[in-house]
Amino acid sequence: MISLHDLDTMIADLGRADIRQQEEGLGLSPDQALVELGKMRDVLVESIRKRWYALYGQISSRYGNAVVPVVQNRCSGCFTMLPTSVNYAGDRNEQVRTCSICGRIIYWAD
Ligand SMILES: [Zn+2]
Repeated sequence: MISLHDLDTMIADLGRADIRQQEEGLGLSPDQALVELGKMRDVLVESIRKRWYALYGQISSRYGNAVVPVVQNRCSGCFTMLPTSVNYAGDRNEQVRTCSICGRIIYWAD
């Protein structure tokens, strides 16, 4: 997840002129660099999907319901109160999060 974010940052940086010049200094055209980064991103996204897919399979076979909503700051799978830091993270639905107690994948419905 973190490395995907890094790659996206690099791709965004390539749009900036000063970075473009640096890349040219390395003998790689900005467009080539962008294509290479795009490929790396595809591979990474694929590996993340597989990882979550495997996790999803494990949790489903254990509990039946692998993905549960957070209701009133509690994991609705095991009813454990979630830490405040998890509940109030601004990007909480942008990445896959799991309940630290039961391991189910959790999401916020609001
Ligand atoms: Zn839970």
